Amino acid sequence: MIIVMEAGAHKENVDRVIAEVESLGYRAHPLFGTDRTVIACLGDERGKERIQTLDSLPEVERVVPILRPFKLSSREVRPETTIVDVKGVKIGGKALVVMAGPCAVESREQILEVAHAVKEAGAHILRGGAFKPRTSPYSFQGLAEQGLKFLAEASQATGLPVVTELVDAHQLDMVQDYVDMIQIGARNSQNFFLLSSLGRAVKPVLLKRGMMSTIEEYLMAAEYVVTNGNGNVVLCERGIRTFETYTRNTLDLNAVAAMKKLSHLPVTVDPSHGTGRWDLVPPMCYASVAAGADGLLVEVHTHPDKAVSDGPQSLKPEKFQAMVKTLRAFAEAAGRTL
Ligand code: PEP
Ligand code: MN
Repeated sequence: MIIVMEAGAHKENVDRVIAEVESLGYRAHPLFGTDRTVIACLGDERGKERIQTLDSLPEVERVVPILRPFKLSSREVRPETTIVDVKGVKIGGKALVVMAGPCAVESREQILEVAHAVKEAGAHILRGGAFKPRTSPYSFQGLAEQGLKFLAEASQATGLPVVTELVDAHQLDMVQDYVDMIQIGARNSQNFFLLSSLGRAVKPVLLKRGMMSTIEEYLMAAEYVVTNGNGNVVLCERGIRTFETYTRNTLDLNAVAAMKKLSHLPVTVDPSHGTGRWDLVPPMCYASVAAGADGLLVEVHTHPDKAVSDGPQSLKPEKFQAMVKTLRAFAEAAGRTL
């Protein structure tokens, strides 16, 4: 259930509602919007008539059920899009945010070179994996903490905030000491213990869609993070498994438009993993913006032919730069700035 307060409701009345909700055995989760405060009541749905009676409290406008199963992530509880701040870069506002970098941090020189190149081309956030959850145990697994140190150095050198993947809840504190945003990859997108552990993360989360997750399952994954205490979640469509084999995955742009409707969380798109082919990345970047994406995640490598992972889907810096240039017109047509 959600309790919608009247516009400009006084703090003491909001506090009173919260106290009454809690006395009924529910968890009250207030969401302070620009216009009004909404209090989400989380707990056993069977007792909802008792919450309904709170509509007689002062400055309560109405008490309504939350129809979607992803309660706190739903647009029902917050009509305006949440803006997630990644060390000053705001995702979810008018400005389109471009995150770019190599699939994996391979060496100090490599990440510094790519970081400067993507910054030059107009990227706002640097990406790079230090822990690589590879399909084969014999493939490169990442530089681990050394990779995080190189990322932090590249961030320092360029001023770009960094995002990297976390694969193990035990490494949360170590990873968030080095980076500005924590990525959860497609393979861990339904690892509910890992997702719950992010509730205590002090850094925002970039949550990829699981390759077999429905839109509802994906938003329920986001709900695990939000309900455990971290509302700074950015969604990322990265393609799903279908019968198609020409592309690595099928980039589901339906999901982008749908999630913008269903959820207040910002939505980004990763056309690199979504297509698996560098030549399809630019057109899918443009299409993502048309579908309403708040940002993009693009793999860039100075020598894709030598990349230890995902070379075939990585753009060379000059191609990335040209893509960002063309993207400006699409961003503008979509009412955004870049
Ligand atoms: C990545 O971003 O390099 C990655 C492994 O992505 P995904 O989890 O979407 O496969
Ligand atoms: Mn990759």
